[in-house]
Amino acid sequence: MDHFLYRDGALYAEDVPISEIAAAVGTPFYVYSTATLLRHFQLFDDALEGTDHLVCYAMKAASNQAILRTLAQAGAGMDVVSGGEYLRAKVAGVPGDKIVFSGVGKTADEIRAALTGGIRQFNVESEPEMEVINAVALELGVVAPITVRVNPDVDAKTHAKIATGKSENKFGIPITRASEVYAHAATLPGLEVIGIDVHIGSQLTELEPFELAYTKVAELTEQLRAEGHNIRRLDLGGGLGIPYTRANDAPPLPVEYGALIKKTLGHLGCEIEIEPGRLIAGNAGLMVSKVIYVKSGEGRDFLILDGAMNDLIRPAMYEAYHDIVAVQEPAPGVEQQPYDIVGPVCETGDTFAKQRNMPPLAPGDLVAFRSAGAYGAVMASEYNTRPLIPEVLVHGDQFAVIRERPSFDEIINRDTIPGWL
Ligand SMILES: *Cc1c(COP(=O)(O)O)cnc(C)c1O
Repeated sequence: MDHFLYRDGALYAEDVPISEIAAAVGTPFYVYSTATLLRHFQLFDDALEGTDHLVCYAMKAASNQAILRTLAQAGAGMDVVSGGEYLRAKVAGVPGDKIVFSGVGKTADEIRAALTGGIRQFNVESEPEMEVINAVALELGVVAPITVRVNPDVDAKTHAKIATGKSENKFGIPITRASEVYAHAATLPGLEVIGIDVHIGSQLTELEPFELAYTKVAELTEQLRAEGHNIRRLDLGGGLGIPYTRANDAPPLPVEYGALIKKTLGHLGCEIEIEPGRLIAGNAGLMVSKVIYVKSGEGRDFLILDGAMNDLIRPAMYEAYHDIVAVQEPAPGVEQQPYDIVGPVCETGDTFAKQRNMPPLAPGDLVAFRSAGAYGAVMASEYNTRPLIPEVLVHGDQFAVIRERPSFDEIINRDTIPGWL
């Protein structure tokens, strides 16, 4: 459920008409709903009720300061994957002891910044990384809390580019080597091994892969405990999918996911951490764009929008589907027609949808891409010197620009000319 609904024929974000935001900030833009963000966080928090737990929002999904602060004020921790994200979380007011540091390539500088500023734990992805964390911790005279990310070799049954839990993926250490790696970690005085981490992929639409992975984590917990390790925290990653099409897909609900966690891991008495990103932000955001031209081709009509692949890359990168709706609700019974919906970028890949049925649209009409809140704005670029599009946050009947559209001067002046020119 989200808070983007039609009222009297016009699409609203909570209590604000989308057309009013468009008039104020221009198109294209992203708009997020506070109520939807909070509702999704709460669903996860409620799903783990009765267990000692922390929901760490995977901020790579949407990392605007206003979004982070909204979630942090509701009690969320953060999962960060870079030094930049760590700083963003800190600046948004998240205490260090609620920040989990994931990612396969943490540098010594990033590790130092996190150990200095405070960190809940590092999710370690390799033995060389373990050695570096140990060295930096010793240099600073502190002990770094760690989990080791294990790769359980399960098929997440998702798009190849976002599957992370198969043995051929770059993530984590093979679960078959866990015993050896934990024994190694225990010899390093700068580290305190506190738990196990697993994350098998994104946009999972079934519980079965989670069940396979979490069952393996439960077995590993018992094995490592028997080997003398004090395993007391399990970080279970993110990955629960969202419905991108209204009609037919219905991924498991957070409450079902929470029940699975309790079933597979509840008996171990561990603190549970989860790292959802997409399910918190995805359906909490729209990208709104305007029709520039309607162009009739041979046998097909193109809807040329002012939004493009640089603003929302998911269709080009993952063959992702987004529902695209007219901001002005079509009159009942109006005949739909197929369009190829494209942006102005000079790439054939700049195609959002082919032969998508839409009500008749004309230049100047607004359309909204649903489920664009996660992996939308954060993956945008300025390809074709198209400015990063603004982000807007709605809260009830209020809205605020939470990131301005940069001017062309700002963009161009980031370049510098060498002295010889
Ligand atoms: C991307 C990622 C997540 C979030 O995945 P979602 O599918 O957005 O829930 C969580 N943990 C790690 C380590 C990740 O890389």
